[in-house]
Amino acid sequence: MARDGTANGTTDGPNMPPGTDRRLERWVTGPRVAGLPVPDLAQKPPLLSFEFFPPRSAAMEAQLWACVRRLETLRPRFVSVTYGAGGTTRERTHATVTRLARETSLVPAAHLTCVGATRDEVDAVARDYWQAGIRHIVALRGDAPTAGPYVPHPGGYDFAADLVAGLKRVADFDISVAAYPETHPTAPSPKADLDTLKRKIDAGASRAITQFFFDTSVYLRFLDRCHAAGITVPIVPGILPVTNFAQLTRFAAQCGASVPAWLGHLFEGLDEDAETRRLVAAVVAAEQVRLLQANGVDEFHVYTLNRADLAYAIAHILGVRPRPATRPATGAATRAATD
Ligand SMILES: Cc1cc2nc3c(=O)[nH]c(=O)nc-3n(C[C@H](O)[C@H](O)[C@H](O)COP(=O)(O)OP(=O)(O)OC[C@H]3O[C@@H](n4cnc5c(N)ncnc54)[C@H](O)[C@@H]3O)c2cc1C
Repeated sequence: MARDGTANGTTDGPNMPPGTDRRLERWVTGPRVAGLPVPDLAQKPPLLSFEFFPPRSAAMEAQLWACVRRLETLRPRFVSVTYGAGGTTRERTHATVTRLARETSLVPAAHLTCVGATRDEVDAVARDYWQAGIRHIVALRGDAPTAGPYVPHPGGYDFAADLVAGLKRVADFDISVAAYPETHPTAPSPKADLDTLKRKIDAGASRAITQFFFDTSVYLRFLDRCHAAGITVPIVPGILPVTNFAQLTRFAAQCGASVPAWLGHLFEGLDEDAETRRLVAAVVAAEQVRLLQANGVDEFHVYTLNRADLAYAIAHILGVRPRPATRPATGAATRAATD
């Protein structure tokens, strides 16, 4: 044990006999941090939604459906399926969403973007969803299919707000839109970004789902700014359980989310240790959702990456327990909706 006066060793203080151990003194004089409140068992469990991506192979398909079946028992409010950048997964997104409607008790939501299609084409996709009983769309601008600035498709919807208005003309969809607690990377200013969000909501969106974030205070300040701007719909936090830190930093750089140094430190040296990474990921996500819940947030959207375990654990920590389905797990709901 060090006796050199460094933080971890014993040291001789001014009023201490030589060799006195100072460690307990350091612990009792350190800053005191209030812990997270003990979960209130009377509190209602939060509303959850889960996000999936359309699988690219048979193996990924099997993984997705195992994930769907496990999370189905938690009776989320809805589950959404992403739309590949540049509209590259149009068929796979459609196939996944409609299969969810046909074969599960879940309420599926289809992501839809403005990229690479005319207004008529997008409207046709939306009508097709409505016919298949899909009532919820996550309406997005999307990004350019290759690196470079976004250019609206000639004859297409320019921005997400235009898409929301167009979808509402097609049918009375429940519409979610994207929000950016740290500001969209191409927005000229946080104020302009907030105006964009307000336009989407004024056009008919009933909630926003945020880009992932790790600093809870940034999200809570964003809620204040949304509220002050006259937004009243929920701004649901998007929770990303991090298991692959290298992938996260690449993705965060593209979408303008910041990755705090402490998060990098937590994953340091774990590149070859997937098991420990998953344990660390669970703790990080649990702390984040507990803090948000303690701040009164009671709706969460979890980016599952098509893996159930962390999403299930987050839900469990938040107080959500499996319940039997009430919606028929057959095409009956779909048929009823289209009759
Ligand atoms: C929850 C969530 C889910 C997502 N899912 C997908 C997905 O499935 N597929 C996919 O490809 N991408 C997805 N994205 C990413 C999204 O497509 C990108 O972030 C995209 O760059 C912006 O989309 P948006 O809908 O926020 O765009 P918008 O709300 O249209 O705004 C984006 C930016 O465009 C500019 N802008 C908006 N309106 C105007 C205007 N009238 N005039 C000038 N400039 C304007 C502003 O700079 C604004 O900040 C998702 C993002 C989130 C947060």
